[in-house]
Amino acid sequence: GERVLHDLLQETAQKHPTQPAMLFIGAKTSYKALWEGASRFASALQRMGVKSGDRVAIMLPNCPQFVVSFFGTLIAGATVVNTSPLYTAHELEHQLIDSGSETLIILDTFFPRYDEIRDRVPVKRVLVTGIQDALPFPKNLLYPVKARKDGTWVDVQYSERVLSYKKAIDSQTPYPTAVKVQPDDVALLQYTGGTTGVPKGAMLTHRNLVANCEQARAWMSDLRQGQEITLAAIPFFHVYGMTVGMNLSVLTASTMVLVPNARDIKMVLSEIQRTKATLFPGVPTLYNAINNHPDTPQFDLSSIRACISGSAPLLLETANKFKWITKGANLVEGYGLTEASPITHVNPIFGEQQEGSIGLPLPGVDAIVVDDNGQPVALGEVGELWVSGPQIMKGYWQRPDETAKTVVEAYDKLWLKTGDMATVDERGFFKIVDRKKDLIIAGGYNIYPREVEEVLMMHPAVMEAAAVGLPDPYRGETVHAVVALKAGQEASAKEIMDFCRTELSAYKVPRSVEFRSELPKTAALKILRRQLAEEARARLE
Ligand code: ATP
Repeated sequence: GERVLHDLLQETAQKHPTQPAMLFIGAKTSYKALWEGASRFASALQRMGVKSGDRVAIMLPNCPQFVVSFFGTLIAGATVVNTSPLYTAHELEHQLIDSGSETLIILDTFFPRYDEIRDRVPVKRVLVTGIQDALPFPKNLLYPVKARKDGTWVDVQYSERVLSYKKAIDSQTPYPTAVKVQPDDVALLQYTGGTTGVPKGAMLTHRNLVANCEQARAWMSDLRQGQEITLAAIPFFHVYGMTVGMNLSVLTASTMVLVPNARDIKMVLSEIQRTKATLFPGVPTLYNAINNHPDTPQFDLSSIRACISGSAPLLLETANKFKWITKGANLVEGYGLTEASPITHVNPIFGEQQEGSIGLPLPGVDAIVVDDNGQPVALGEVGELWVSGPQIMKGYWQRPDETAKTVVEAYDKLWLKTGDMATVDERGFFKIVDRKKDLIIAGGYNIYPREVEEVLMMHPAVMEAAAVGLPDPYRGETVHAVVALKAGQEASAKEIMDFCRTELSAYKVPRSVEFRSELPKTAALKILRRQLAEEARARLE
């Protein structure tokens, strides 16, 4: 029959029991041990009363406990709710209430944020873990874990509700009660990135998640079963890192090198060198940060052979420099969104790539570019991208109206409206123009911020750039640029605007430039245009 997501782990554990599944600082876990750990975790959940379909929230960075609790939750027939470690207490509260999570797995250092809201959320039990739980230290160093309170480290106060993760699973057998899980069951509630609005929970089923890592596997035709080493720095708590960093590794019996913080470029560099990682999925800001980091030349990154870049446009310059640094890694651009588990398009890994293109639809994916009436536009014309395929979500959790607006029936299929404007050429290559919502309308002209950002990034001193619309009494909106300069580089606002003038029509040239040392980003390292726009607008008022 059709496999569910944890079947992939069980199969790999049976076929490659001694293959390392995870490397984490000094610790190594085999696939057999990972399967057993996840099974113990499932037993622990069942012991605490967790039932099929219950929601289990995870608030952890990339670490062995994430992978164990993720698969353990699925084995118990429950649904994982990914929460971002960057959430404030308020955001966490919203998500725990919205998802109805009665169980929470949390890192000790994040615990105070839960503690602040514990009386307002449906959580009945919390399992607290510390990074040290994953390391081979003597036992007496493991308890109790610490939480930060008012600037000092205090012991987490265990109670009936607050339990030690390690104790809970150590005391269990790896033989949970068998639970029937169907491919159509919801494996994951993945809240959308929040780059553009209130987070909604996308219901991703076992079928969705299995399909997407199988599609990725089919695309990467030369993946060697049981031989790849994946540098997993992009977070598993977002569906992109989860699919390409975790699920694809499990499917292909690859070793995951877990990096808990993708912003720690030095650790990323040293882990690549230490583990001789072969695959490195990432996002443009991460490759860009590596390209520009002063320590990069000291590291040997030549083991990296293939990288997929998603979540934001990849500039040719970023890709080329990264290829050079790694002595020839294949860095290809793909595209996706949470609601599609997430990948729908990617460039061919070998052979022809198209600059600025997200490539071709994955096997089993249909994609069309349509006008406001849902009619396909002519080749090369801009329209909204709609996608269809086995990885498209079941819907938004408890938001049927939002689902009906986003997943629509047409041409005998269900389509996901992506909210992205795109074009397709005669060979079937797609290009993303920009998000529909981020369109700036200045003096009646449509401006896609991406076009302005690409020019800003061409300036030799610019390291990161964003373009947003600001209200303007005459033009409706004007373009405002926010840039971060490369270390040791200088440029004035006038220089930047003059530079843009040489490359862009006058109406697209930013009317103001703001400098920051770094642009604000989501935990998945996506630049927060919306926040930059709000901050700039607030200053105008
Ligand atoms: P939210 O939906 O909550 O506002 P978000 O849009 O960032 O947040 P994600 O699902 O994390 O949610 O990101 C998907 C979006 O990222 C896509 O809709 C698209 O706008 C953008 N994106 C992904 N890959 C690319 C790419 N290669 N080029 C351009 N944009 C991309």
